[in-house]
Amino acid sequence: MVSSDHIWSILAEVSDPEIPVLNVVEMGIVREVLISDAGVEVTITPTYSGCPAMKTIETDIAEVLDEYGIPNYTISTVLSPAWTTDWMTDEAREKLRLEGIAPPQKGSADKGLLMGRLRDVKCPRCGSTETRMISQFGSTACKSLYQCASCAEPFDYFKCI
Ligand SMILES: [Zn+2]
Repeated sequence: MVSSDHIWSILAEVSDPEIPVLNVVEMGIVREVLISDAGVEVTITPTYSGCPAMKTIETDIAEVLDEYGIPNYTISTVLSPAWTTDWMTDEAREKLRLEGIAPPQKGSADKGLLMGRLRDVKCPRCGSTETRMISQFGSTACKSLYQCASCAEPFDYFKCI
């Protein structure tokens, strides 16, 4: 009999396909781990549905569970409620910042951006909020490209959804 703690720690080895420094647990993609007589049930909610890489998450999770010899597992995908950047842990936000990617702001989906208004995005390098969006799309579709007016560095901003 495996414990759910054990499963969570195994799942923490699966990195996010978009941001390899983050794992699927930190991203808030893994919603639930249930252990029953029938086996292990993992529930995931994929992030940005527009990201092609997201399809690989389920495969990656299955691979690592196989590696650890976990028998009788199922992985279910739940699309509602939709994943939101609010589910990312504080550790995940800090790791993003260290990668030079401005982490998504908590408690706010990007409605302002959709309506054409820019929010204050902090530069991950110098912390200045004197930043502006250069392009809605950064290195991937999940990020926007910003530039800092203080240190002149361009950086990726992880969009809030
Ligand atoms: Zn800066």
